[in-house]
Formats: sequence, structure tokens, C-alpha cells
Amino acid sequence: MKVEEKVRDYFRVIKEKNKELNVFLYVDEKNGLKRAKELDLKKGQKGKLFGMCFAVKANINVIGMPISCSSKTLENYKGTYDADVIRKIKDDDGIILGIVNCDEFACGSGQNSGFGRVLNPVVLDRVAGGSSSGSAAAVAAGMCDVALGSDTGGSVRNPASHCGIVGVKPSYGRVSRYGLVDLSMSLDQIGVLGRDVEGVAKVMEVISGRSENDPSTFDRNVENYGSFSDLKKLKIGLSEEFKKLCVDKRIWNLILEKIKEKGFVSKGVNLKYTKLGVQTYYPIVYTEFYSGTRKFDGRKYGKKIEENCGEEVLRRILGGAEISKAEHSGKYYRKALAVKGLIKKDFDDAFKKVDVIVSPVTPSLPPRWDEELSAKEIYALDAFTIPANLAGICAGVVPLGELDGVPVGMQVMCPAFQEKKLFDVMKVFE
Ligand code: GLN
Repeated sequence: MKVEEKVRDYFRVIKEKNKELNVFLYVDEKNGLKRAKELDLKKGQKGKLFGMCFAVKANINVIGMPISCSSKTLENYKGTYDADVIRKIKDDDGIILGIVNCDEFACGSGQNSGFGRVLNPVVLDRVAGGSSSGSAAAVAAGMCDVALGSDTGGSVRNPASHCGIVGVKPSYGRVSRYGLVDLSMSLDQIGVLGRDVEGVAKVMEVISGRSENDPSTFDRNVENYGSFSDLKKLKIGLSEEFKKLCVDKRIWNLILEKIKEKGFVSKGVNLKYTKLGVQTYYPIVYTEFYSGTRKFDGRKYGKKIEENCGEEVLRRILGGAEISKAEHSGKYYRKALAVKGLIKKDFDDAFKKVDVIVSPVTPSLPPRWDEELSAKEIYALDAFTIPANLAGICAGVVPLGELDGVPVGMQVMCPAFQEKKLFDVMKVFE
């Protein structure tokens, strides 16, 4: 099929479904088609992402497109440059179809966009997950090949699981954050969502690597993710602590069945501090988010954030301001960093015994829209995804099956910078 035909098809599907699902905030039909035509005429070497069509989360800068972070604060803000990941995708012949909805400034699990909620294309009465809700829904609804999201505490993995697709959060420092609007800069990573492991791995291969623009990136070789290897001797770790936190035990049982079906053996690992993950994550996020949002004071970028944001963003700003007060110095943020270190050590020790650790993505099925959850209950939904961000390791999600007709994913976690192994294992379970 010609690239132009495919791109036209995607724009048609977007037009058909977007009214109901509220996924795309902006579609760039003119440039998308122009680029497709150029690619169809291209002679010589084709890029690795030739003709691949992308949806981009509204917190990643693309030149000329509205980068609102799904917030009224930045309603009229347009990207003035390409994020490192966007530049690499464009250079490798990928096509950016447009910008998709998410939770405001990536704060939430699918409930908090300033521009209306995203429906889950697979189960309309349940949340699509988040904060990369639009990215997951765009893939699941067949509106693009792949999507970029960001993951600070689970925002790629959570919606991937809820929408029945594949998603990956790379190791901290694997992908440049240059051009990503910070939620919590010591935890954020740009991740990829797609319909299969191979597609996601291919994109990861292109966007990974050291960047002069982001000093937290590492100069590691970008391995050949496409070469999935034989994994006969794989040792899988299961955590009793995670099992205890899993509210819907049917999800846990699905994982056990899957491991058995594939003929792998599992072994218990001790992740004793992970139960403190949520309590550790929020003081870090509140503090760093508060600091990062000080530039949204209404002078340079958009409007004053406190006067234009939603409840959850305001909660984090006010909480962050409180924690950051001089008289609290050493009490919250620094303590949280200390526990972060303990959680990382838990994983370091566990990975001496096993190759990968698998777990559910969320403790229960995605909430229905008519369920009223408190902020605390929503925070608890990230108990299984947050630890990977705190430890800086890589983690991905593959669809596991369905419960009550609702998609359920499985999380695979690997040591930092072992994305190659991560994809190998995800591929086996896919
Ligand atoms: N749900 C988590 C939060 O609200 C995760 C967000 C994210 O990963 N961007 O912070």
C-alpha cells in the first residue's frame, strides 16, 4: 500500500471516531499528506520508520502544533521546536498525524484532561487509563500505527493495559526528555505505545540514545531490538508484596496461567519496600512539579497556571509549595529520595536472582466512569507501575486477555538498560 493511501485511511478513521472518543486535539492533514506523498516518491535509502504514522501526546513539543498539555493554561501555545524524539522520528521517515489528549500536565490516570475525557475504544463505559489516555486510545481505535506517551509513574503502561495494547517505559536516561514538558523530571521518560512488540521496539531503537540536549541520557549502544532471542532458561520473578496489593485476584491468576502456558518457572522475589512506592512517589512528584510549573506564571507561556488548571493539578501545586517550604527542609522530599534508594536496592537484589519480574499493571480493572474514586484511591491504582520509575528500570506491558470483556495487561520489568531482554520477553508473551 502506498504511504499516502494509509495516511488518508487514518485521517478518515480519525474523522469517523474522534467525535465520540475525543482522542485527537489536533490533526495535521495538510502536512501529513504532503509528507506521505514525498515518501512515496523517495528514492534511495528508506528510514527505519518509513511511513509509520504517529500520534503524539500533548506534552511533547512538535514545531507548529498546539502543545497544550491538555490544559487551559497552554490552550493557545504552539510548539516552537521539535523534541529530540520528534526530530529523530521525522529524520527516519515517520509521519506525525497530530496531537492527542491526555491528563492535564500528565497528572492522573485518565480522568483529568482540561479538554474532556477520552473514551476507551474497547470498553466505552470505562476509563482509557492515563495519563497517556489519547495515545493508547488512538492506537486501540486504529487511528495511527504507534503513539508517543510519557511515563512518570505508569502513564504509558496503565492506558496500554486498559486499552489492550503494547506499551513500554524505557529505563531512565534511555530516551532524551528534551522537548517533553516536565511532570517530575527525575522520573519522566517518553515511552511508546503500539499494537505489537515489534513496532514498539523499532520506534524505541530510533528514539533511544545520548543527546546533548539532555544531560541525564546515557551513551549506551542502541541494541538491535528486532532480534528476539530464544528464552528457554528464563527465570521469572514474582513478588508476594505485589500479590498482596492485587485487589482483583483474577488478574494475578491470569498471570500465573500465562507463565505456566509458556512453560516458564517462576521464583519469589522480595520487594519489601515497594509497598511504600505510592507514598514515596507523590512527595517527589509534588515537589518537582511545583518547581517545574513556576514558569507558567502568565508572562511567557500561556496563562497563569493556578488560575486556569483543574483540581488535580492545583492539588499538586499547592502540595508542592507546602512541601518545598524552608521549615520542612529534609522532611518530605529528601526522605522520599531515601526510600527511592531502598526501592532501587530491592530491585537490584531481586535481579541477582531472576532475569525479569512480572506483575499486574493495576490492582483492579479500569474504573467505570460512574464510579466515584477519591484522589487517594486513584493514586493507589499506580502501586505496580510506580516502582519501576523510582528504580529507573525499564518496564513494558503486553495484553494478557480479558476479564468481563475488559482488557487486562501484564507488566514485565527488567534491569536498567536491558530493553533488549525486555522486548524478547514481551514478544514471547505477546
Ligand atoms: N497516575 C500517575 C500520576 O498521576 C502517573 C502519571 C504519569 O505517569 N505521567 O502521577
